[in-house]
Amino acid sequence: MISKLPNVGTTIFTVMSALAATHKAINLSQGFPDYDCSDELKSMVNQAMTEGHNQYAPMPGLPVLQTAIADKIRLLYQQEVNPATEITITPGGTYAIFTAIATCIRPGDEVIVFEPAYDSYIPNILVNGGTPVIIPLVYPDYHIDWDLVRSKITPRTKMIMLNTPHNPTGSILKETDMQELEKLVEKYDLLVLSDEVYEHLVYDGASHQSMLRYPGIFKNSFVTFSFGKVFHITGWKMGYCVAPAHLMSEYRKVHQYLCFSVNTPMQYGLAKFLENPQHYLELPAFFQRKRDLFLRLMEGSKFTPLPSAGSYFQLMKYDKISAEADKDFVIRLTKEAGVAAIPVSAFYQEGEDNRVIRFCFAKKDETLIAAAERLNRI
Ligand code: GLN
Repeated sequence: MISKLPNVGTTIFTVMSALAATHKAINLSQGFPDYDCSDELKSMVNQAMTEGHNQYAPMPGLPVLQTAIADKIRLLYQQEVNPATEITITPGGTYAIFTAIATCIRPGDEVIVFEPAYDSYIPNILVNGGTPVIIPLVYPDYHIDWDLVRSKITPRTKMIMLNTPHNPTGSILKETDMQELEKLVEKYDLLVLSDEVYEHLVYDGASHQSMLRYPGIFKNSFVTFSFGKVFHITGWKMGYCVAPAHLMSEYRKVHQYLCFSVNTPMQYGLAKFLENPQHYLELPAFFQRKRDLFLRLMEGSKFTPLPSAGSYFQLMKYDKISAEADKDFVIRLTKEAGVAAIPVSAFYQEGEDNRVIRFCFAKKDETLIAAAERLNRI
């Protein structure tokens, strides 16, 4: 068989987590917490199982969970979305993104993607026959050059992909970005796919610029979210997509033949958990404390942090330590210093290498302390 993805290997997250395990290194590479989720949430799921909610959920999701999400959207973004027709529960954020691309992209369609890009985006476009049009974010603060974006639009441009807060850089979109985006959506009738899995992880009082806030953008958008990332349950593979009804009806045609529906007891549990807005309103402070702790612990080291305004990732330059390529440096760091990180070049097609690596700070305080101790010795 001729590969549809000849240039794709095993995802860097699997590679680095495996390397960390082999060398018994502290794993700050793949983005997942090393602490447990809320006991209250677990008991809500247990209760749903005990009550016998163990068969297929409705294809688009459980109405109680769709409604809880619509309530959260109203509270956070002051917008009304129709829970029955505009929200679909998915097995995770990555799935939600793939499904949006599979719904819209035909061979020959161009999709604008910013690099560094989360590693599933470009393979998702390629496997559906689309053409990625790659635009670099401007280093070192990784902002979007909107003039460059405008210069890349052609009659074949179908979709623009965004990610805020951004993985791996921790940058966030600002209101001015949203104004630029809205103008483009209007002018070219572009579809928007916005990966907002870190929506609650925005720091220093900034507000998350969700596509959901902007009716002029949302009317053409698929917006994807993850319960795993924000509620410390990556192993549950739970997320959702929000899109206007005319797009969501097409999305569901694909979703129903990819996974049909998502596991029922988790949906009941999450619906109950969302009833208390505190469970998500407390998240920015929870994660900002971890970011600040990690930064403080690293102050004496030879690593130089780049600003992280959101997500649970912190980029660090290591030019005072080594001139190695980032892929080589992280391997040596794992083996010799006992701390695993992700090379940012893995988020670029051509392996562009600014000698920057990504650490995940969604870890217990003692893990961050132990990792920083090792990193300070270098
Ligand atoms: N999103 C996670 C990260 O960036 C990884 C998820 C995965 O491994 N697929 O680390």
